[in-house]
Amino acid sequence: AKVAGRGRATEFQPEMKQAFLDRHRLQNDLRGAVERGEHRLQFQPIVDLQADRTLGFEALVRWDHPELGPVPPSRFIPLAEESGLILDLGRWVLREAISTARLWSEDVFIAVNISARQLTDADLVPFISATLADLGVPPRRLEIEITETALVDNDAIAIRTLRALRDLGCRIALDDFGTGYASLSYLQRFHFDKLKIDRSFVESCRVDENSSAIIAAVCALARRLRLSVVAEGIETADHRVFVAEVGCGLGQGYLFDRPLTQGEALERLAREANL
Ligand code: C2E
Ligand code: CA
Ligand code: CA
Ligand code: CA
Repeated sequence: AKVAGRGRATEFQPEMKQAFLDRHRLQNDLRGAVERGEHRLQFQPIVDLQADRTLGFEALVRWDHPELGPVPPSRFIPLAEESGLILDLGRWVLREAISTARLWSEDVFIAVNISARQLTDADLVPFISATLADLGVPPRRLEIEITETALVDNDAIAIRTLRALRDLGCRIALDDFGTGYASLSYLQRFHFDKLKIDRSFVESCRVDENSSAIIAAVCALARRLRLSVVAEGIETADHRVFVAEVGCGLGQGYLFDRPLTQGEALERLAREANL
């Protein structure tokens, strides 16, 4: 068995080498990609499940690699975090997202994902404050989405940054709720405005009693804490009915729309305004 094991290890070696080279290449190509204009944002609607209206959009970054084509954020965000490039990329995302929000009516918010590395950057809050002022967008229209994992390292600094953003008037959402290790302790330490229930729970809410129980419990908890709740990854009418029944106010997912271009997002808002 030992020999077979070793044999297998050598067999996998070329693949591992390839994976390393791919990573290395992406890491390199990411440098300067912002300046070269290779990124774009998409906007996915977050809807009020009762009123059936778009309340805001989440900005999701895309990278169109000149040779490899579109690279998913799950591949390049971790690389950008490791190299520190996330600071530049994150500033680009914020400015682009906030300037897109100017095209919408005053009551529509923009949600932006922020990485751990950005939360410990002393320039983040001044940058956001200056960008909002420069573009004339009120801070309450900007929602910052952070994951529990972003709070794990340097949590004291991270929480201080969140407080400063809150003082500025921005809203703060806890993303992928339920997938980390310390969800409840963060709820105790910081008053979030919103919880986003991870789509892994929503996906299985109709077939798995544990998932449906968790969603219902999170909604009950959120009500007590006066937080609003978004169910992510709503793909079917069944998902929608279930999450609404257990008290989830907001939803996001392919049932409503995939992430949209700037133009498509505007069309969606225009369509709703004319209903
Ligand atoms: P996330 O913040 O949890 O974003 C939601 C992801 O779920 C998006 O994937 C979205 O396209 C996908 N999604 C939305 N509705 C559905 C659905 O009904 N079914 C399924 N199966 N998926 C759905 P995306 O765009 O590939 O983003 C992946 C992750 O990359 C995001 O997860 C977020 O953690 C990260 N990310 C994206 N943009 C940024 C950014 O600008 N900055 C940072 N730091 N991270 C970002
Ligand atoms: Ca998010
Ligand atoms: Ca999420
Ligand atoms: Ca996620």
